[in-house]
Amino acid sequence: MAHRVAIALIGLLAAASGFGQTYDILLKGGRVIDPANRIDAVMDVAVAGDQIARVTRDIPSEQAKRVIDVTGYIVTPGLIDLHAHVYGYSGALWPDDTQLTTGTTTVVDCGGSGWRTFDDFKKTVIDRTGTRVFAFLNIVGKGMVGEQAENDVADMSPEKTAAKMAEYPDLIVGIKTAHFARKGYAAVERAVEAGKLSGKPVIIDMRITTEYDRTTQRIFEIMRPGDLRTHSYSDHQVELLDRSTRKIHPFVREARRRGLLFDVGHGNGSFIFPVASDAMKDDFAPDTISTDLHNSSIFTTKSDMPNVISKFLHFGMPLGEAIEKSTVRPAKVIRKFPELGTLGEGRVADIAVFKLQEGLFGFTDSRLRRLLATRKLEAALTLRAGRLVFDQDGLAFPDWRSAGDYEIIPAP
Ligand SMILES: [Zn+2]
Repeated sequence: MAHRVAIALIGLLAAASGFGQTYDILLKGGRVIDPANRIDAVMDVAVAGDQIARVTRDIPSEQAKRVIDVTGYIVTPGLIDLHAHVYGYSGALWPDDTQLTTGTTTVVDCGGSGWRTFDDFKKTVIDRTGTRVFAFLNIVGKGMVGEQAENDVADMSPEKTAAKMAEYPDLIVGIKTAHFARKGYAAVERAVEAGKLSGKPVIIDMRITTEYDRTTQRIFEIMRPGDLRTHSYSDHQVELLDRSTRKIHPFVREARRRGLLFDVGHGNGSFIFPVASDAMKDDFAPDTISTDLHNSSIFTTKSDMPNVISKFLHFGMPLGEAIEKSTVRPAKVIRKFPELGTLGEGRVADIAVFKLQEGLFGFTDSRLRRLLATRKLEAALTLRAGRLVFDQDGLAFPDWRSAGDYEIIPAP
């Protein structure tokens, strides 16, 4: 009987403690960096359901069901990786494994699917992942499935590409062209034509520029303001920098002035330390930070979002700017701002928590050269639409010593 009363009492106490708890999760005491709202300060972030409910100083712990102490950590909007591979391409990775574990809540698949394969992409990946997945649709109808398909100009239909984009205007955010190993500008022209028909941006990879009798200047002329060039810090064709002066080519600066955007797209073969170093010294930071993460780069250059951000921190980019180029800027490029890329109150609670480690850390680039740096950004915790999906340090859980007695397991 006494036992039953005690249980009832516990129930009452639980109900009482629930009273006034407006928030489901409270991230307490972290350094909040939310460039969209010009915030870089120690603040609390309260989440209710799948939304950010409040961002301010000193939200009382009693108002939340679950309080997570993130003192000493950095709290940002969930990162947006503008260039990764999660479908079609042979090196595609399941995004939850590689993105949610690195503070990245949104990923854009960069050309894995074309208009012929997008429905399958949606059914097998987009509809099934915890990560929010968008697509740059390949101008090739079959998508990024190998050289033969990717060189097939007859399968590059701006009309059919734009028609598929009109069918899924929320999911398909632009067009990709890549790996075109034939002469001429057909791939770029058709991708831009699809961009004009759909009113969306085109992202162009490095190899399509100066190989095969093409010039970067001509490509830039075809591109429109808001279109992107990815793999910017590769020097396969020495495009950004003049090798003799190690300065940015004037025509590259002119392209930026005209509104062309420069994305990182680190990957396995597209990020070289001296190029990034010289470009940063000559005031040519990227517009957007992205990984080009696939099944090779995840092992060689380990280029997930915090890794790429850490490299730019080393080359002099302030942390706030790196976060901006991994949140607000990509959200704007894919026309998802302010729905994404901010910790604004009422926005979806896609939130990343990082630690900025100090010490001595080794990084590698596409030539597998080593860089020693003194800071390293590491993902600690990820919320996706208010749900705790990753917690590297067990921040959300009670200390083991406060968790009560041993659970006695009877001997067999
Ligand atoms: Zn790629």
